[in-house]
Amino acid sequence: MLRDAFGREIDYLRIAVTDRCNLRCVYCMPPQGVEWKARSQILSYEEIVTVVRAAAGWAFARFGSRRRAACAPDVERLVEMIAAVPGIVDVCMTTNAVLLDRRAEALARAGLRRINVSLDTLRDDRFERITRFGHLEDVWRGLEAAERADLAPIKLNAVVVRGMNDDELADLPRSLRARLHVRFIELMPISNEGDWARTCRRREIAW
Ligand code: SF4
Repeated sequence: MLRDAFGREIDYLRIAVTDRCNLRCVYCMPPQGVEWKARSQILSYEEIVTVVRAAAGWAFARFGSRRRAACAPDVERLVEMIAAVPGIVDVCMTTNAVLLDRRAEALARAGLRRINVSLDTLRDDRFERITRFGHLEDVWRGLEAAERADLAPIKLNAVVVRGMNDDELADLPRSLRARLHVRFIELMPISNEGDWARTCRRREIAW
């Protein structure tokens, strides 16, 4: 059994498949986006599976392993490769869901069991402001496709920020279907946080 320094069991492996995203959330990225890494600078699917095999064979095999990923081109192939690794009992993906309506069925067929979806608001206008240009209806379509593909339970991750969406704390769990589990996430201190805080102070974003 593998434990961290606080005695907690480590029973899952989390892998970021891509540095790319089709949204530009204000607390995550600058408006112009970031410079994407060259394909040669990130792990290939085959290299990722090598890491998964090593982890599953070493410490995770008895407890299963979960894997999370953002949507990336041809990610169904990677899901299939990982699901086939001996010792992997559960494959999960984290996504913003905007492309999920086209891919949920294929991902489920490839071996994906569950998804986590990032969703901070139930308001169309606010979603567009937070993500800079996203459309909430794309997320709803993705969630419906995930339900049809039986990717369950579906967990929703909501980053809660005072003044941005804290007035929806009660609405988020209440307004969503029972099969969707809402989790509130603390804003992570990442590099764009300072820019965003300054933007909010200047009141350039009216929530
Ligand atoms: S918070 Fe998630 S969905 Fe938003 S820009 Fe960052 S990676 Fe993309």
